[in-house]
Amino acid sequence: MLFTPDKNSYYLMKIGVFALQGAFIEHEHALQKLGAEVVEIRRLAHFSENFDGVVLPGGESTVQGKLLREEGLFAPLKSAIEGGMPVLATCAGLILLADKIEGGEQPHLQTLDVTVRRNAYGRQLGSFTADAHIKGIGDYPAVFIRAPYVAEAGAGVETLSVVEGKTVAVRQGKMLALAFHPELTDDLRVHDFFLKVIKGEA
Ligand code: GLN
Repeated sequence: MLFTPDKNSYYLMKIGVFALQGAFIEHEHALQKLGAEVVEIRRLAHFSENFDGVVLPGGESTVQGKLLREEGLFAPLKSAIEGGMPVLATCAGLILLADKIEGGEQPHLQTLDVTVRRNAYGRQLGSFTADAHIKGIGDYPAVFIRAPYVAEAGAGVETLSVVEGKTVAVRQGKMLALAFHPELTDDLRVHDFFLKVIKGEA
């Protein structure tokens, strides 16, 4: 399917992409291709409550959680999200948002009413691609890398995608959280959907 974004439609939208660790550059490129402006967040001075939205990329959630705390970004980010800042979180980002992590591990931001299971697909199936049907988007080539899944979700959480019986994409308000990596494909529809959510069009 050919998807041609309207490059002007997201002009002047400013998205903060957390660039502490992991696969953040690919998110930046996807958002820029759609016409949004991107600001990398590495330190507290880079963070602004005036961003139209933020991206929490994949990587290693334990490392990212530690760096968020060390850089003093943890509390401002948590309160911005609680105040309604839109978020696109992928893989490790989903783990950072989750209210609980199975196995008793210390959770992080706890703004998303879900319990996640980390590294949930076992060693053999550590990385794979699957056709995911995403509500509001359609069939999508989902790349999973040592991915978590959503084991339990609260009543206010909408399931957007289920793959092999496991919930792999959810939405709560303006938070979108995915177990897979839309930034690692050329398919811009997930980022486009996020920008539409920010604008109140999805
Ligand atoms: N396994 C990683 C974690 O638990 C997530 C993997 C990813 O982001 N691709 O943080």
